[in-house]
Amino acid sequence: MQEFKSHKSLESYETFCCGWVQDLAIYKPPNAQNTVVLAKVMHSRRLCEPPLISWVIFTPSGQVCSAHCTCMAGVAESCTHVGALLFMVDACVRLKEKATVTDEPAYWKLPSSINKVVPKQPKTHQHQHRMS
Ligand SMILES: [Zn+2]
Repeated sequence: MQEFKSHKSLESYETFCCGWVQDLAIYKPPNAQNTVVLAKVMHSRRLCEPPLISWVIFTPSGQVCSAHCTCMAGVAESCTHVGALLFMVDACVRLKEKATVTDEPAYWKLPSSINKVVPKQPKTHQHQHRMS
């Protein structure tokens, strides 16, 4: 979990909490051990721009093998968006542990409890500039 923490920052957390991480998708290549998690991340301060695509590759033990993002900082594998994605994954994993759900893709669709933290439709909050 050290790798997780290295990506985390307050800004990443705000990005996650504001619901900018969307369309979380999990993909496991048929012949690969690792799991790829992909998500769209909105520009929190530049809403008119298209969302970024962030992805993280996890080893079977849950460690971050590789991370990337389409933003400028993404090449350094440590941008805010990847951090926000990791927060999202972290939240999903905790929910999974709590619910003891089997390893099915469906669990990545967040249950209603997390919607209190992540607005269902962040677009409607655009004009409020709410940062909490
Ligand atoms: Zn990025």
